[in-house]
Amino acid sequence: MDRLELAEKLRHIAGNDSVIADAETMRPYECDGLSMYCEMPMLVVLPSTTRQVQDIMRLCHQHDIPVVARGAGTGLCAGAMPHPEGVLLSLAKFTQIREICAHTRSARVQPGVRNLAISDAVKPYGLYYGPDPSSQIACTIGGNVAENSGGVHCLKYGLTVHNILSVEMVMVDGELVTIGSDGLDCGGMDLLALITGSEGLLGVVTEVR
Ligand SMILES: Cc1cc2nc3c(=O)[nH]c(=O)nc-3n(C[C@H](O)[C@H](O)[C@H](O)COP(=O)(O)OP(=O)(O)OC[C@H]3O[C@@H](n4cnc5c(N)ncnc54)[C@H](O)[C@@H]3O)c2cc1C
Repeated sequence: MDRLELAEKLRHIAGNDSVIADAETMRPYECDGLSMYCEMPMLVVLPSTTRQVQDIMRLCHQHDIPVVARGAGTGLCAGAMPHPEGVLLSLAKFTQIREICAHTRSARVQPGVRNLAISDAVKPYGLYYGPDPSSQIACTIGGNVAENSGGVHCLKYGLTVHNILSVEMVMVDGELVTIGSDGLDCGGMDLLALITGSEGLLGVVTEVR
């Protein structure tokens, strides 16, 4: 599939305003915090629903087109650097905190929610979110999961992997799966630990508890 055709199909999935195809507007996506490595993507797409992420992944999978997920782009290892023949999938529109449960001290959030925004939201309950990368004012929870991020609080509270119960994820072929559970432990292999720190290589995280 050529670039124009792909752009048309992505617009059909995510809407006209959610696909960026011109070089000037795509420029901010050419690198993450490791700016010595830059690459322009073929296209940038900003879906706003999990269903759209599924459709994008399915389409790209069918046509063998690489997809790179991106949170806030603060990563320091070029994990969000685009593929020149691929789609850069930004989670910038996934910014809802869907549920806060002070009783279980948990929250259900979309991946584009900033790390610090979670602590701000639960402050009225006398709570905060443990892992605190220095970039917490900007970095997203989706990026934190992909990088297993942490900060000074992690000496006491552990890394991201120790602070999440489950993730909803769109796999490479568009399948939607939930890994982990609402409980503190769940049966079977610890796939949540496999996902955490996998740098976006195993799928796109669309919700985190
Ligand atoms: C000033 C500064 C200070 C920092 N301090 C720390 C620190 O103290 N501790 C620390 O651990 N890190 C730190 N970092 C690194 C960085 O902020 C973290 O790795 C952070 O978790 C990245 O989040 P992001 O939203 O910016 O992700 P991005 O940079 O956008 O992406 C990072 C990786 O996650 C993947 N990804 C993003 N969203 C998703 C998703 N929804 N699903 C699947 N994969 C996804 C991307 O493909 C990429 O591989 C710092 C960075 C800066 C610039």
